Amino acid sequence: MIKLIKNGEIYAPEFLGEKDILVVDGRIGAISDNISMDEIEDYVEVFDATGLTIVPGLIDGHVHITGGGGEGSFKTRTPELLLSDCLIGGITTVVGVIGTDGTTRTMTNLLAKAKALTEEGITCYCKSGNYHVPVKTLTGSVESDILLINEIIGAGEIAIADHRSSQPTKEEIARIASEARIGGILSGKGGVVTIHVGNGRSKLSLLEDVIDTTDLPIKQFLPTHINRNHELLKAGINYAKRGGLVDLTTSSVAGEENELSSSKCLSTMLKEGVPIEQIMFTSDGQGSLPRFDERGELVGLEVGKVVSLFHEIRLAYKREGISLEEVLKVATSNPADILKLPQKGRVSVEKDADLLFLNKKKFEIEGVMAKGKWMIKNKEILKRGTFE
Ligand code: ZN
Repeated sequence: MIKLIKNGEIYAPEFLGEKDILVVDGRIGAISDNISMDEIEDYVEVFDATGLTIVPGLIDGHVHITGGGGEGSFKTRTPELLLSDCLIGGITTVVGVIGTDGTTRTMTNLLAKAKALTEEGITCYCKSGNYHVPVKTLTGSVESDILLINEIIGAGEIAIADHRSSQPTKEEIARIASEARIGGILSGKGGVVTIHVGNGRSKLSLLEDVIDTTDLPIKQFLPTHINRNHELLKAGINYAKRGGLVDLTTSSVAGEENELSSSKCLSTMLKEGVPIEQIMFTSDGQGSLPRFDERGELVGLEVGKVVSLFHEIRLAYKREGISLEEVLKVATSNPADILKLPQKGRVSVEKDADLLFLNKKKFEIEGVMAKGKWMIKNKEILKRGTFE
């Protein structure tokens, strides 16, 4: 939105005299003696996007922004996310989570890192808690975390069906979700609880039990890593057919041989009749991708990459033949709706100018704009993190 205010007498507070003010997207873009309509072009940077496809900047709803892991002792703690990791992956909005280690990875650190990424130019939110219950929060409860802290939009990731979980009960999961729900309702946020679903035999049964026996709506939960194996995918499809949300992890393929790519799983789910609006892709970036043998011993470890989000979207479009309109939803409008980020996820008037510019032919990232600022232009990274 560009507005031109003519002929006002300005005290800035220093006296500037009679000037014109150009207001661009809620900010003062220029102050000058006479800004005529013809002259506005002096203040406008024109970019020719011929040959480019413009889509919403991607939302990555599950990233270990402070690093995660540590399942192979301290030296296997994964590093923090860098701004350029996001930019190279076309990501302009990130949701940070903690993960397995809720002792050396803290909520204060998570919040500080989220603020840092936002200062560096993208938009970063986070979730309250880690794998374990009782949940370690910032303010004393999940409800007040969501209600009082701008950046905190939900809870999680709480682990179930995993040897690394705290083996939560149905009641504990229900209590966390009710707090997240109330916090969300009172603050106008999503309050969605991300549920990490591990390799365990129980799969989604604990979650289904909570939904069957409480008044909590199924969409209060976002179970993630549903593409971990065939059995969990099957359970996830049944869960989605009940109306549940499901999240596919794009970086997971590197972690375990029997994991399934998000692009393939998306195709399977759509063929099974799951509405695309219930499906999200997230990267699980900077998380550890540990491999355990059947006795639970660690046999390998890698770090998830946020760029996998774009790669899987590209594969879903190019290889699985899903229309671009549809496939984009899983990391743009769907997370914006599910997590309640009204400024994000759509190229639309009044939304944040978070834009991704793609080469039409090759479907490669040519440019990234975050909140109206060029971050990557003509494939050149213009903005890096403070210490990059
Ligand atoms: Zn997880």
